[in-house]
Amino acid sequence: MLNAVILHCMNTPLFHILTGKKERLLKIFEGWCDNVIDLIVATDEEAILRRDIYDRMPVFTWGKGRVTLLGDSVHAMQPNMGQGGCMAIEDSYQLAVELDKAWKQSTESGTPIDVVSALKSYESARRLRVAIVHGMARMAALMASTYKAYLGVGLGPLSFLTKFRIPHPGRVGGRFFIDKAMPLMLSWVLGGNRLYLANSVTLRL
Ligand SMILES: Cc1cc2nc3c(=O)[nH]c(=O)nc-3n(C[C@H](O)[C@H](O)[C@H](O)COP(=O)(O)OP(=O)(O)OC[C@H]3O[C@@H](n4cnc5c(N)ncnc54)[C@H](O)[C@@H]3O)c2cc1C
Repeated sequence: MLNAVILHCMNTPLFHILTGKKERLLKIFEGWCDNVIDLIVATDEEAILRRDIYDRMPVFTWGKGRVTLLGDSVHAMQPNMGQGGCMAIEDSYQLAVELDKAWKQSTESGTPIDVVSALKSYESARRLRVAIVHGMARMAALMASTYKAYLGVGLGPLSFLTKFRIPHPGRVGGRFFIDKAMPLMLSWVLGGNRLYLANSVTLRL
C-alpha cells in the first residue's frame, strides 16, 4: 500500500464537494509526469481524503507568569519542511534545560525555584529560531503553490513559446540561490540547533 500526500493550494469552496475528487485531482495535476497521474488513477475515489492545513500568525508572547506554551499550541506551522514536530521536541528539551538550571540554582542558594524566570529564558531561547523556521515553512508553501517550471500563459502573440518549455526566470534565479544557500540552511534547520546545545552531536546530511 502506498500513502501519498498531495499538496495543493485551493481556496475555492467548490473543492468541498465530496464527489468527483479523483476527477478534480486529475485536472489539477494535468500535465504532470506519468507517475503522478498513474498514482491518482490507481487510487479509489473513497480512499482520497481531503485534509485542510492552516498555519497561524507567529506570536511573540508564549506565556504569562508560571504558564507557558510549546509546540503547535504556540507555533503551528505548515508541514512543508517537516519541522512542526521537531520544533515541539526542541521546545521540550529547552524547557527541561531551563527548569533544571533553575532547580540547581535553587538548591545551591537555598531559595525557592524561580519558575517565572526559567520560563522567560525558555521563551527567549526558542522564539527566534522557531519564528525563522515558521517563516520558512510558510515561504515553502508559497513557493510550492506558485511554482512555475516553464514560461506560462500571458505571453500574448508569443504564446507559442510555451511549447518549447523555456525555463521560468524565477526558476533559474531560484536554482542559483538554492545551490548556494540550501546546504547552509538545511544544516541549520535539520541540525537541531546543535551549535547552541551543549554536548552537541554532528549531523551529516
Ligand atoms: C500532514 C502533516 C505532516 C507533518 N509532517 C511532519 C514531519 O514530517 N515532521 C515534523 O516534525 N512535523 C510534522 N508535522 C507537524 C507535527 O505533526 C506537529 O507539529 C506536532 O504533532 C505538534 O506536536 P504538539 O505536541 O505541539 O501538538 P499535538 O501533536 O497536536 O498534540 C496536542 C495533543 O493535545 C491533545 N489535546 C487538545 N486539546 C486538549 C484538551 N483540552 N485536553 C487534553 N488534551 C487535549 C490533542 O488531542 C493532542 O493529542 C506534520 C503535520 C501535518 C499536519
